Amino acid sequence: MDNCIFCKIIRKEIPSNKIYEDDEILAFNDINPAAPVHFLLIPKLHIDSLAEIQDNHQKLLGKMLLLAPKLAKEQGCDDGFRTIINTGRIGGQEVFHLHFHIIGGRERLPVMIHHG
Ligand code: AMP
Ligand code: ZN
Repeated sequence: MDNCIFCKIIRKEIPSNKIYEDDEILAFNDINPAAPVHFLLIPKLHIDSLAEIQDNHQKLLGKMLLLAPKLAKEQGCDDGFRTIINTGRIGGQEVFHLHFHIIGGRERLPVMIHHG
């Protein structure tokens, strides 16, 4: 994907503060962090969003999910963290390359889901 900002980060055309990389996955700090720990976990394969995942992505997605708590712990989240996947317009997605936000720090994060 030529114009995708995260594909450009994967190709190292744009710098990032990388915290993990393997042949299929990249994790880097969010440029505009919402908390002391805020990194993004992305597949190197361009997938637009969670709404576009396919059965053949199962292994890759499982690998990303298994990696999330390991990296969160490495980044200092030893008492929990939040995982967010904004999807599509309603979900407020801004970058259309699938990414997991991993957010944490020392303080309890604000409540996001308010029940009527
Ligand atoms: P979303 O609304 O889930 O699509 O969020 C996109 C996220 O990508 C935002 O939190 C941005 O701060 C982050 N972001 C955008 N450009 C960059 C970049 N070049 N490096 C790191 N994070 C970025
Ligand atoms: Zn991309």
